Amino acid sequence: MNYCERIEEEVKKKDSDMPVFLQALHEVLGSTQMIFDKHPEYEKMGILERLIEPDRIIQFKVPWVDDHGVTHVNRGFRVQYNHVLGPYKGGLRFHPSVNMDTLRFLGFEQVFKNALTTLPMGGAKGGSDFDPKGKSDMEVMRFCQSFMLELNRYIGPDEDVPAGDMGVGGREIGYLYGMYLRIRNCAERGVLTGKGIGYGGSLARKEATGYGLIYFLNEMLEAQHIAREGKRVLVSGSGNVAIYAAEKAMQCGMKVIGMSDSKGYILDEELDLEAVKEIKENRRGSLKEYPTLCGHGLYKEGSVYDVDVKCDIALPCGTQNEINGERAKRLIKNGVIAVAEGANMPDDNEAIEEYLKNGILFAPGKAANAGGVATSGLEMSQNSLRLSWSFEEVDQRLHDIMVSIHKQCQKAMDEYGLDRKNYVAAANIAGMQKVIDAMIAQGIF
Ligand code: NDP
Repeated sequence: MNYCERIEEEVKKKDSDMPVFLQALHEVLGSTQMIFDKHPEYEKMGILERLIEPDRIIQFKVPWVDDHGVTHVNRGFRVQYNHVLGPYKGGLRFHPSVNMDTLRFLGFEQVFKNALTTLPMGGAKGGSDFDPKGKSDMEVMRFCQSFMLELNRYIGPDEDVPAGDMGVGGREIGYLYGMYLRIRNCAERGVLTGKGIGYGGSLARKEATGYGLIYFLNEMLEAQHIAREGKRVLVSGSGNVAIYAAEKAMQCGMKVIGMSDSKGYILDEELDLEAVKEIKENRRGSLKEYPTLCGHGLYKEGSVYDVDVKCDIALPCGTQNEINGERAKRLIKNGVIAVAEGANMPDDNEAIEEYLKNGILFAPGKAANAGGVATSGLEMSQNSLRLSWSFEEVDQRLHDIMVSIHKQCQKAMDEYGLDRKNYVAAANIAGMQKVIDAMIAQGIF
């Protein structure tokens, strides 16, 4: 048994109640043994043991009162995973499915993703099982204030800088930030990212993950000499990542033919993204409203990955494990040539195997969706400088970072003789090596 296999077996026993984390761990350990073959000394240093165990896990109760005067209690979490590269950094997710399993998976991935951006950021993730859906603005505000009352003890511009994720957008960040300032009696801008533009946010942060995904996809296609113009694109999800991925794909001459949400999907050869924005960003509604709102297109309940529709490129941007082996086979049957993950781990390990077996270009989330956290890093830089860069300047930096992530992947492919369509191993190796180098330089602690 090699080092990666031994560690995976040990963690499987210790954390047997964390299937999603174990899935993410398998994806990483299944493709990085070559680092340890090259550097057998890492095993004695306990590199993997130290990487896999979070620095700290914080769990707290979040009591709040609804509009009818009824008290509710949710769970709040922050997993501070690794900070050898900089302050802990990673989003907060508010969704009923949030638990320690999900957050360990997301925090672990975040460490390598942040390393790939080359910005000085460690990895963390947090959130709550609170569901903002169907709550009034005042209920969301009271929840956020209660959440921050506890979280504020563990964060700070040089310590841990949370951002948004599913269920945490500009509204939630605003309420969280306001409470932090009040508790600390300060005006530290760099403590949260994803802030409003008027009070320390960065232009292009809202667009960053989706735009960055397309910048990475473009690099991948170009490396294979595949033209992107006219390619038929299926985007799942219709939240922050999905909407701006669709927008940039359209700007780059691709044709977006479908999107989805947690209940159903729309298919439309003339997809009207402004209508999707109106429904999702302004009304916080369901895609069910789409055909009525814009007078064309079709809405159906269920997953967009269970229908037969011809598409060249799939951009899963909803949530983890949207695509299993069966759904991947269907995508391949329907002509997919490239899959790039806007969400974190939307493809399970069987789906990834199908892509690789069939020579499909595949970009894992930790490389392809790193544009969001990269631009959060740029927001932190602007906050430290007390300056705001223009949209074009931030977008250019984002573009350069995505190109650099692609180059780092190619470098790992060259160094380790990897398949040039498989970015899984390349992204894991490139990200992990950076973290290991810093861990060794900083000693054992
Ligand atoms: P949002 O909350 O803005 O949107 C999530 C979208 O996914 C919603 O449209 C939601 O539907 C949909 N969705 C939820 N579950 C499913 C499902 N099972 N099948 C299909 N669609 C589903 O979140 P984000 O766009 O911010 O995040 C999406 C993903 O991207 C997450 O995995 C997140 O971790 C990842 N990510 C986000 C970054 C960011 O900057 N925001 C950065 C990097 C990664 P509904 O509208 O019905 O709720």
